[in-house]
Amino acid sequence: MIMKLIIESLKNLLKKPFTQKYPKERPNIPHRLRGKHKYNKEKCVYCGLCARYCPSDAITVDREKKEWSVDIGKCLFCEQCADMCPTKCLTLGTDFEFAELDKGKFVFRG
Ligand code: SF4
Ligand code: SF4
Repeated sequence: MIMKLIIESLKNLLKKPFTQKYPKERPNIPHRLRGKHKYNKEKCVYCGLCARYCPSDAITVDREKKEWSVDIGKCLFCEQCADMCPTKCLTLGTDFEFAELDKGKFVFRG
């Protein structure tokens, strides 16, 4: 039993680590990662469906002024807004590096 443990430990010592040295090295990003929103203003019809179905009230749409914004600080990254968007002008990209000290900087305007 002990011998088996020693062999297993030695084998693992020679293997590459499973952990990634982020932020020193770029991590492997899963292609389905739900990160920061990607918004195409040209295709937006300001219907407000993304805001209506957002469970955390993170999206604001002003049809009159043609303004759209998301507060990423409130976002749960559930992707419901993108699923609801009829023109597919809203998706969640793979950008996950948006840490901020100032909460106001989490508001992304399209
Ligand atoms: S991903 Fe979810 S929580 Fe974030 S803005 Fe879209 S609907 Fe709201
Ligand atoms: S659901 Fe899509 S088209 Fe409608 S307001 Fe939101 S981003 Fe614009």
